[in-house]
Amino acid sequence: AAEKRCERLEEASARAVLAGADAVLFDCDGVLWRGEAAVPGAPETLRLLEAAGPEGKRLCYVTNNSSRTRLAYTEKLKRLGFPPAAPRQVFGSAHCAARYLSHALPPGGSAYVLGGAALSTELQAAGVAHLGVGPAPPPDSAHFGSRAPLDADVRAVLVGYDEHFSYGKLCLALRYLLRGDCLLAATNRDHRLPLEGGSAVPGTGCLVKAVETAAEREAFIIGKPSQYMFECVASEFDIDPARTIMVGDRLDTDILMGNNCGLTTLLTLTGVSTLEEVQGHMESDCPERKKLVPDYYVDSIADLLPALKA
Ligand code: PLP
Ligand code: CA
Repeated sequence: AAEKRCERLEEASARAVLAGADAVLFDCDGVLWRGEAAVPGAPETLRLLEAAGPEGKRLCYVTNNSSRTRLAYTEKLKRLGFPPAAPRQVFGSAHCAARYLSHALPPGGSAYVLGGAALSTELQAAGVAHLGVGPAPPPDSAHFGSRAPLDADVRAVLVGYDEHFSYGKLCLALRYLLRGDCLLAATNRDHRLPLEGGSAVPGTGCLVKAVETAAEREAFIIGKPSQYMFECVASEFDIDPARTIMVGDRLDTDILMGNNCGLTTLLTLTGVSTLEEVQGHMESDCPERKKLVPDYYVDSIADLLPALKA
């Protein structure tokens, strides 16, 4: 494949790139909105995209955030003025994890889950039996949590965003994984969630590393950059990778997944990653770093407006 060059999309090139696409996959936080504020012009951009060309574009939403249900995303899209979306257009790592376990668990098997209410809702919707959501009792300090009975049906440990993560949960996760014949899956590896003003909170990746370290094995990753996320989209909709654009603000999740799946990749600078990082990857001789270079970039997805209005 030709080397990626991270060209700025101008009106004419944007028109050509959009004409070659039937579907556009959007990362959410940092692309469509930041926190509770829509990126200026983003709602109008999506409304025009959905109506563009003779057939319009299929829009899908692809997010590593496991702390919101698909339904919550459709409500947020609506609240911020984006075109109405159905839950099946939303591919969150909670829903995709549920989809994965519904296929990967043996009959009668259940999952021990480090995660919150949204993850539990999506697991339930997919018919995946599970336990562990909510705070766990601290381990019995004399026995390091090793005495409490384990659930006989657990055949998987799933790690997601868990505000109640604790040493007690880590003990339980390890005990399940030590029994053998137990899958280890995680929603995503994002290690930091940036806050306004340069601050950040630890992301799910920190919890995944803790469980992996204890268990001495690697988790199967559901979310971006895992190709599994795109497989979920492609199994739900008739999508041609060569005619699909992935729009994201992170090189190591959104852009890497898009490049690995043969999508056209578009970086927007309203979120985490910068052009300086792209420059570093382009100048590097390391093939792994080259995979982080997008085909195109814009300052904001609202930069697509002139091409859509013309
Ligand atoms: N995980 C959590 C818990 C989050 O809150 C967020 C963003 O808000 C993310 C992951 C990253 O989400 P996205 O893939 O939409 O950027
Ligand atoms: Ca993002």
